[in-house]
Amino acid sequence: MVVTSSEPDAIIIGAGIAGMYQLYRLRELGMRVQVFEAGSDVGGTWYWNRYPGARFDSESWSYGYSFSEELLQEWDWPEHFAAQPDTLRYLRLVADKFDLRPHIRFGCRVSAAHFDDTSGRWTVILESGEQARARLLITALGPLSAYTLPNIPGRDSFAGQAFHTARWPHEPVDLRGKKVGIIGTGATAIQVIQTIARDVGHLTVFQRTPNWAAPLHNRPITPEEQARIKASYPEIFARCRETATCFIHQTDPRNALDVSPEEREAFWEKLYSEPGFGIWVGNFADVLTDPRANDLASAFVAKKIRQRVKDPNTAEKLIPKNHGFGTRRLPLESGYYEVYNQNNVRLVDLNETPIERITPQGVLTSTKAGSEEHTFDILIYATGFDGVTGPYDRMDIRGSGGRRLRDDWIDTPRTFLGIQATGFPNMFMVLGPHTARGNIPRNIEEIVDWITGLIRYMRRHGLVRVEPRPEAVDEWGRHVEEAVAGLLFSQVNSWQTGINRNVEGRDSVRRTLGYYGGAVAYRLRSEEVATGGYQEFIFG
Ligand code: FAD
Ligand code: NAP
Repeated sequence: MVVTSSEPDAIIIGAGIAGMYQLYRLRELGMRVQVFEAGSDVGGTWYWNRYPGARFDSESWSYGYSFSEELLQEWDWPEHFAAQPDTLRYLRLVADKFDLRPHIRFGCRVSAAHFDDTSGRWTVILESGEQARARLLITALGPLSAYTLPNIPGRDSFAGQAFHTARWPHEPVDLRGKKVGIIGTGATAIQVIQTIARDVGHLTVFQRTPNWAAPLHNRPITPEEQARIKASYPEIFARCRETATCFIHQTDPRNALDVSPEEREAFWEKLYSEPGFGIWVGNFADVLTDPRANDLASAFVAKKIRQRVKDPNTAEKLIPKNHGFGTRRLPLESGYYEVYNQNNVRLVDLNETPIERITPQGVLTSTKAGSEEHTFDILIYATGFDGVTGPYDRMDIRGSGGRRLRDDWIDTPRTFLGIQATGFPNMFMVLGPHTARGNIPRNIEEIVDWITGLIRYMRRHGLVRVEPRPEAVDEWGRHVEEAVAGLLFSQVNSWQTGINRNVEGRDSVRRTLGYYGGAVAYRLRSEEVATGGYQEFIFG
């Protein structure tokens, strides 16, 4: 059954920040656009991740859309690092203000998208079996939308309430006085743990790999600051354009190894006491590239953890030993380490006592003496996502001649600029693999504007089909690999290197899933392609 009464010019999958902005831009071109969104509202990440304590650690005023001065002046961010309900409220406002909702069908998960060579059109198939067709297909699926449950035996047998953080219920969950277990200690778990520890009766944290974390230093935005922020948006966004990660934080040009221990320590103390990601992406130039500098930075943060956690054994367990500071995406925290000084919180190190299975009552771990059953009212899975390629793998995407994207990308994604793949004509990915990423809305706006520019070019020149030349894809793939070489994070397992031990086939071989030559270099290359007349593409 065809769902749309008349054929749209373009179909967009996803109504998060990326899909909403792409819709806005294509409507500006006068195009008919149909968006399909699995959720029941706009917002993407901020619609799904409603867990206690969810917030971003981008500075709020650098995270919102930059395209509308009216919107910038109308919206007040309440805090320097906004909480999920505020960000969702903001994105709902955007949808209403720009009249986006009439073009979005909610509650529609796309299961497949097939390109037909004869008609030059994509057919999109929804889980309901309904279909829609359009010449252009834009995937705005999100890098962190394919959540993963832990592959632990007995998972479905738990008799209490169990939630993955990315599917937290819309109704309030009463945690007061409850016995709660949480599996995972990534950025999400850290936010949950520090938020619920004071309210629950007892909290057990199951940790397989500790993560380095540093203070967020969030606070409300005062009326004076609000006025200053609103007056300086051009400077804020200009600053984000200058940095490799599109955050306001710029890498320090000095090397940690070139300055005296006193200067190093003083700089790190300063960064540790300041809000946001300065300590990660505004650190000395060599901290994320030179293992010796990284060891020193790790020792500094380890010292802080030891100072903050009273029990030395617990402190040691919380200090990562298998990866250096900042080599995984750094969680920012607010009182996380102090939680372990509370009597009602227990840290279970899964390296010492692995989980055997989930039982109707809770979690069974093995001990030297036998096994121990931890019983719970509520079990929280903060077990992350099949990052970047996960949402693509979950759809049956077939290009020209029935070629399957999943097969083409089995070892590594193959794209030009992370936006298009050879053999998948007229399919454009917003924030696909091999794009620059950091402060993500900044990346999204640039990519959407670039895709819109290419579509505008095609319409002007009467072109109906586009895909990248295979040699352009090869060249970009080589460049992506060159850019990541030498970055310490590429040697560490995480969602950013394509590892998820809960996903078959993704549990051991690292892949490069982003472009790490920096947002400035990415922008220069994309602009060069556009101003050069898109020579890297084959048009029809
Ligand atoms: P999403 O917001 O993920 O939206 C994608 C949408 O596509 C979703 O609504 C999904 O339902 C839909 N979709 C996917 N597949 C299908 C399908 N097959 N059919 C139909 N619909 C589909 N980034 C930062 O820059 N700074 C931060 O501090 C930050 N904090 C984060 C905190 C959390 C908890 C998480 C999970 C992510 C965070 N991120 C942060 C990353 C965040 O994902 C991006 O900032 C941004 O929200 C991505 O927007 P998007 O539109 O690309 O993707
Ligand atoms: P994550 O960083 O991938 O963490 C998942 C956690 O679950 C890890 O500790 C992992 O352990 C553990 N885990 C997974 N499967 C397990 C199993 N079977 N048994 C035991 N432990 C298991 O995921 P996330 O915390 O959801 O964060 C993902 C990304 O979302 C972040 O890196 C960030 O980009 C974004 N995010 C941002 C914020 C923010 O503050 N802005 C907040 C939340 C999320 P191992 O490490 O051992 O695999």
